[in-house]
Amino acid sequence: AAVPSDGPTIFDKIINKEIPANVVFEDDKVLAFRDIAPQAPTHILIIPKVRDGLTRLSKAEERHCEILGRLLYTAKLVAKQEGLEDGFRVVINDGPQAGQSVYHIHVHVLGGRQMNWPPG
Ligand code: 5GP
Repeated sequence: AAVPSDGPTIFDKIINKEIPANVVFEDDKVLAFRDIAPQAPTHILIIPKVRDGLTRLSKAEERHCEILGRLLYTAKLVAKQEGLEDGFRVVINDGPQAGQSVYHIHVHVLGGRQMNWPPG
């Protein structure tokens, strides 16, 4: 697992189209694309196009409230687009103990199979 860092991440390359991604939704603020190592039949990552210090949720400041809300709302839009009417799971991993590997905040949307709790 990557250690926390403020440096550029692989997601910058995806945003800048330097490496390909399977984009499922995009607007001026957010980008949603399929996870390269899916943990469920549907596994999508939603990221802000501008990181603005949001390497991880625990770095959130008041100014990030709007983008945080938009990331969550995008999860709803993507779930609908993917046909996840039976439900889906939204995950944000924060930091090493949660297994965060990319330090550009991202929301996971997982669906298409029964989810169990706790995830382990
Ligand atoms: P984290 O563990 O940080 O919450 O999640 C990072 C996610 O990014 C992982 O699920 C990993 O599979 C995904 N990922 C890492 N590199 C790439 C990439 O280059 N392309 C895509 N589409 N997903 C990636």
